[in-house]
Amino acid sequence: MTEPAEAPAIRDFIREQIRADLAAGRVSCVVTRFPPEPNGYLHIGHAKSICLNFGLAREFGGRCHLRFDDTNPAKETREYIDSIMADVRWLGFDWGAHLYHASDYFEQLYAWAEHMICEGLAYVDDQSADEIRDSRGTLTEPGRASPCRDRPSEESLDLFRRMRAGEFGEGSRVLRAKIDMASGNINLRDPVLYRIVRAPHPRTGDAWCVYPTYDFAHGQSDAIEGITHSICTLEFEDHRPLYDWLLDHLPVPHRPRQIEFARLNLTHTVLSKRRLIELVRDGHVAGWDDPRMPTISGLRRRGYPPEAIRDFATRIGVAKANSTVAVELLEHCVREHLNRGAPRRMAVLDPVKMVIENYPEGQAEELDAVNNPEDATAGTRKVAFGREVLIEREDFMEDPPAKFFRLAPGREVRLRYAYFITCREAVKDAGGRVTELRCTYDPATRGGDAPDGRRVKATLHWVSAARAVPAEVRLYGHLFRAAEPGAETGNALDDLDPCSLKVLTGAMVEPALGEVAPGETMQFERQGYFCADPDSRPGRPVFNRTVALRDSWARIRARAGGA
Ligand code: ATP
Ligand code: MG
Repeated sequence: MTEPAEAPAIRDFIREQIRADLAAGRVSCVVTRFPPEPNGYLHIGHAKSICLNFGLAREFGGRCHLRFDDTNPAKETREYIDSIMADVRWLGFDWGAHLYHASDYFEQLYAWAEHMICEGLAYVDDQSADEIRDSRGTLTEPGRASPCRDRPSEESLDLFRRMRAGEFGEGSRVLRAKIDMASGNINLRDPVLYRIVRAPHPRTGDAWCVYPTYDFAHGQSDAIEGITHSICTLEFEDHRPLYDWLLDHLPVPHRPRQIEFARLNLTHTVLSKRRLIELVRDGHVAGWDDPRMPTISGLRRRGYPPEAIRDFATRIGVAKANSTVAVELLEHCVREHLNRGAPRRMAVLDPVKMVIENYPEGQAEELDAVNNPEDATAGTRKVAFGREVLIEREDFMEDPPAKFFRLAPGREVRLRYAYFITCREAVKDAGGRVTELRCTYDPATRGGDAPDGRRVKATLHWVSAARAVPAEVRLYGHLFRAAEPGAETGNALDDLDPCSLKVLTGAMVEPALGEVAPGETMQFERQGYFCADPDSRPGRPVFNRTVALRDSWARIRARAGGA
């Protein structure tokens, strides 16, 4: 065991428990695990669990295992396994040599199942899944014993071996623990330990046709790996008595302890794999990595830095009661991180041409632009300027209302890093749409300041019409309009926002962005943070808006009165 690099600063009930276990000598080295089922891509809720489990291992100088809970081959694939490993790594965590699979333990788990049969603690049940469900009872009524409950151990053993040998059809028999059909905890009413599944397994192929259930595999896998703290979400609280019962009745090499915490719920999204699979399968999004998805791969493609996700996980902390976190907090964390590191660039999303009439035809120059005002070491770059530039269409109004300080006829504004310009005239087409702004510039204001000290009320971003590169820009909103999707109708899909993706095909960006590498993040001045998408081609970049500049979290917090 290595000593933690610094004293753990975070305090919560899980850390308190771990400290108590260490202090009492119940545990000498903290071992946690992250146990995904490879039946979908990881989402931001999983990120909370990953940050917690790997974070604890780091803080307490222990280790965290990555263990695939691959006990249901009907729903699990290699693609999911690979994506999960890539996502955990990308989040910044490393399981070192500790990559495991529940399927590594199939032989041991099977042997323990036989052991239970021999001890009279398990029996093969010939009832159908429906019959088992119907006889399980309710919260107020005890369950009814299966007709197979008291069959001799030898008979169960013989049947279980024949189940393994493939003699029986899927669903025709199961192995159940023999606990208590009258237990107040339904999980203890003879839970199913093994079922027959006829589907090739991504790792074990067709070696098995009986598979352990989550309840039978999980605690025993924890025991085999020497997990000290098996941290899971609250819905498993009712399973803990079963978790403990199995450990009590099996000759396991080690005694792990299960601790539950509240899962992450986030506004304007869904965090259930079943729901996310549906979104992908039915084409509501472009795929698992659609930047609107709350999946790790979606957030990555959107441009969320892993540090921001880790920071978010720390800020929300862990609690014992379920609650919902405002997605704006996540966006706030992203904005904070990008503000520090993202280089500033100029991009005009919806351009209108500006002709600077007194700028000599054929002349061009390069102006110095600051890369990041938050980071002096980021330096400057050259941006091309000329007689024709493009500005944002919405930065001009022919007949501006009182609070509109940007460009209007007769008004002087600053072009960032360039000059003061004054609008002389707006040229319009037959439909009244502005096609061109005729302006003049003041050569004395080069760099953006007037020697006579006169001021302007607005600074606009722009690009050189001659040198800018065309780009596609994808603006994302929340996938779901409602804060709690499905709250009203019971179906989250009813709350899908049909306008959650807006594609701008006519954007123009400064020349340096033509060669941008996918995954690179930057701030488009006055617009937001953007990330180059893998769909980018040389000379035709595609940008995803990661998050807009305005911080609605600050507003939410202010409304809540601090915090
Ligand atoms: P889903 O309910 O979406 O199908 P799951 O919990 O079944 O997800 P697993 O692959 O079994 O998915 O989850 C792996 C680990 O991540 C588990 O320990 C689980 O408790 C944890 N986890 C899943 N969802 C969340 C969440 N929203 N917040 C925190 N932890 C989560
Ligand atoms: Mg699960």
